[in-house]
Amino acid sequence: MSTKKDQPDQHDSTTHEETIKVLDLYQTREKIQTRKLPGFFRDLRRWTWIPMLGAYFLLPWINIAGRQAIWFDLPARKFHILWITFWPQDFMLLAWALIISAFALFTATVLVGRVWCGFTCPQTVWTMLFMSIEDFCEGDRNQRIKLDKSPWNLNKLKKRGAKLFLWGLLAFVTSLTFVGYYNPIRELVPEMFSFTANSAAVFWTFFFAVLTYMNAGFLREQVCMYMCPYARFQSVMFDKDTLIVSYDVERGEPRGTRKKQADYRAEGKGDCVDCSLCVQVCPTGIDIRDGLQYECIDCGLCIDACDAVMGKMGYDPGLIKFTTEHAMKHGSTHILRPRFIGYVVALTIMVGAFGYNIINRMPLEVDIIRDRNVLFRETTMGLVENIYTLKINNMDTRDHSYSIHVEGEYKFRYNGVNEVVVEEGEVLSMPVSIALDPGLMKSPNVDVIFVVESLDDPAINATEENRFIGPRFRR
Ligand code: SF4
Ligand code: SF4
Repeated sequence: MSTKKDQPDQHDSTTHEETIKVLDLYQTREKIQTRKLPGFFRDLRRWTWIPMLGAYFLLPWINIAGRQAIWFDLPARKFHILWITFWPQDFMLLAWALIISAFALFTATVLVGRVWCGFTCPQTVWTMLFMSIEDFCEGDRNQRIKLDKSPWNLNKLKKRGAKLFLWGLLAFVTSLTFVGYYNPIRELVPEMFSFTANSAAVFWTFFFAVLTYMNAGFLREQVCMYMCPYARFQSVMFDKDTLIVSYDVERGEPRGTRKKQADYRAEGKGDCVDCSLCVQVCPTGIDIRDGLQYECIDCGLCIDACDAVMGKMGYDPGLIKFTTEHAMKHGSTHILRPRFIGYVVALTIMVGAFGYNIINRMPLEVDIIRDRNVLFRETTMGLVENIYTLKINNMDTRDHSYSIHVEGEYKFRYNGVNEVVVEEGEVLSMPVSIALDPGLMKSPNVDVIFVVESLDDPAINATEENRFIGPRFRR
């Protein structure tokens, strides 16, 4: 239940300006039928959505170096992202990429509020796509409300059926694309339509299709209000200089209807004509005139609606606008404030360090494992020999020839392959041994360094240290 308490009662210590909103988590959802109105912010969203949707649907179909541009190959535990292949060893880089993304979101929130929610969040984007289908099949807001109330007949069945079918189609394409990031999409799609796709791919495609269908078709704003954690803690990042969608109470109140040419100031009225269009266009169904609310996703649609009304009335636009609390109170705001500068500096350092690590990432990993069964053995020539398993992991996106040798304080004799070709993405494992004259050893346990260098690109090289063990007592 949602109640507004505008007047204090005898038990109430709050002032009459305060609005107390009580949200009952078990309340029945009131279906929101939004009105579609043209305007600057609706157009602006096209410029964020079209590239985003284009990238989402097309990226899996683009091949780079003969493989899908973005492919999260879970069975092989490799993530191919554009020109780079990330291995489990690169997990920290991926973790940092996520941390940087979160930090970028926080930085944007400090400056421009919840624009992520209103302009780029997949929940908002897909909800709006589903709403457009609804609008196309069932008509505008008034027609949809009428259809909702009308008894079931052939016309209602046709319109509703068309809407649900198109929703299902969009949900399926969305989900198939998503699964295509994990299974090569050029194989997945024909397999799906010839019923030969593997059962895991089929399961996840239908699972995510149902999720998309429910989230964007039915749950919509409830995901933002009750499920999304970001909606809960974003207010912590707001300050008095954060851009938010605000209603100018001073200018708009007292609200009220009036004739177009009426001297409404003389009637003691403000600029708000109480047309409720700002509420009708709101995808979360709130009234921005009640002040800042956590349900507001900063989509700006109420600004478009109100500016259109102001234009028709011959008033100045901006009764509802993107502004800051400081600007509303004092007419100016501070963009470069300590909190924002702190976020930008931290973000710049993180991005710089991440970029440096990516550029200098060594696409080669060498591992050396001592044979634990035999500490050492003596050869017929009186040398001490240790046996190892050498693993060369070519993490590059092309094949490489590598040279192998050992270094250390002593002149070790390396017995193994000196040159080897390792294909891209391959881990080559091979036994090698090292021998040393025990008379030279100052200690029974000495360091040995294995050096692997690419013959076609000397910048690619790696070393791995291990121990060489000899007899405890030397003669
Ligand atoms: S109040 Fe305005 S900006 Fe906020 S969600 Fe509703 S329409 Fe969008
Ligand atoms: S759209 Fe503007 S004029 Fe109409 S009710 Fe909302 S704030 Fe008032």
